[in-house]
Amino acid sequence: MAGNRTFTMLKPDAVTAGNIGAITKMIEEAGFKIVAMKKTRLSSELAGKFYEVHKARPFYGELCSYMSSGAIVPMILEKDNAVEDFRTLIGATDPKKAAPGTIRALFAKSIDANAIHGSDSDANAEIESNFFFSQFERF
Ligand code: UDP
Ligand code: MG
Repeated sequence: MAGNRTFTMLKPDAVTAGNIGAITKMIEEAGFKIVAMKKTRLSSELAGKFYEVHKARPFYGELCSYMSSGAIVPMILEKDNAVEDFRTLIGATDPKKAAPGTIRALFAKSIDANAIHGSDSDANAEIESNFFFSQFERF
């Protein structure tokens, strides 16, 4: 059975462009409850840990420096079928391929600076939530 929580992170391009409010509004209007949220910044080393699964991919180095280039806003979200529904809400990785009306179609600048992260499985949602939030910040 699909779980009811997912993890997301507004990326530096979205934060720098002043889109925290607009994107968060879309998330809430789509029926997601914000369980935890903060504004923070990753070192390149921590970004590397977060994206460890992509270590072998050619864009890994640039991804780590990009993700540590500015503030980010990680969040834990709650809704039925959260992981799948949230991936639908954000759209494809490449904003040129993202469905109209999705967060990436509206706010992403490029395939790397693509505004927002969304977990791809319940297991990864749990791992990624634990990466940023202690048990006392999740209720
Ligand atoms: N990415 C990139 N170039 C690519 C593919 C991905 O820079 O060709 C970046 C992009 O920021 C993406 C992240 O790496 O969001 C993780 O890639 P993944 O394939 O997991 O995409 P996502 O799950 O974020 O849609
Ligand atoms: Mg992914």
